[in-house]
Amino acid sequence: MMQKIRSTLARWMAGRRGADELSLMLLISGLVLSVLGSALRFGILNLMGLAAYVFSMYRMLSRNVEKRYAENAKFVGLWHTVTSNVRQFFIRLKNANKYKYFKCPECHARLRLPRKVGEVTVTCGKCRHAFKQKA
Ligand SMILES: [Zn+2]
Repeated sequence: MMQKIRSTLARWMAGRRGADELSLMLLISGLVLSVLGSALRFGILNLMGLAAYVFSMYRMLSRNVEKRYAENAKFVGLWHTVTSNVRQFFIRLKNANKYKYFKCPECHARLRLPRKVGEVTVTCGKCRHAFKQKA
């Protein structure tokens, strides 16, 4: 019985992408929006949660695998950028008493100097621009 259900489901899912990172994030967002909408008695959040569920199901069951793959790749890249920026922010916050953080005036690369070194000439590692900086 279970084997028959399993094989029927496997046949039905053939050619479909199934769950990926974007679909899972949509499901989680839908859950959060639904819970918030119910807790705050804010109907539009429930509706947005439902839309997220529906879009997630549509993506998982879609047979246009290439398009879903491209969407997911874009999402994963964006997610990586956001999480690494947040991680870097907390690292800078943790080390704020040890280092002074600043940006290169030419290329805007993020640079740092140990605190209390006084005014020194800094050479940007990215664009080789040299400038004076206090720390
Ligand atoms: Zn630079």
